Amino acid sequence: MSDSTPKKTRKPSPTKEIKVFDTWCKRCGLCVAFCPKQVYDRDESGKPIPVRLEDCIACRQCELRCPDFAIMVITEDN
Ligand code: SF4
Ligand code: SF4
Repeated sequence: MSDSTPKKTRKPSPTKEIKVFDTWCKRCGLCVAFCPKQVYDRDESGKPIPVRLEDCIACRQCELRCPDFAIMVITEDN
């Protein structure tokens, strides 16, 4: 019997939300610089604001590069 089911590929789920924890964020801008999709703008204090969430590919570079663990990328997987 042949298996016609398409092979599952490990693709990140769509991003539902990005949380930036205000009190932990020191406004260094690393997350903004490393985001390959320019998802973030910055407010007047320098805090990153995920204004183009629909462009996010859930690569988590922002989360991984943040030295203060101030970002959480929430997808349908977590
Ligand atoms: S997960 Fe990737 S694409 Fe999405 S905001 Fe972070 S760095 Fe940008
Ligand atoms: S990398 Fe972290 S500390 Fe730096 S601006 Fe982004 S959220 Fe704030």
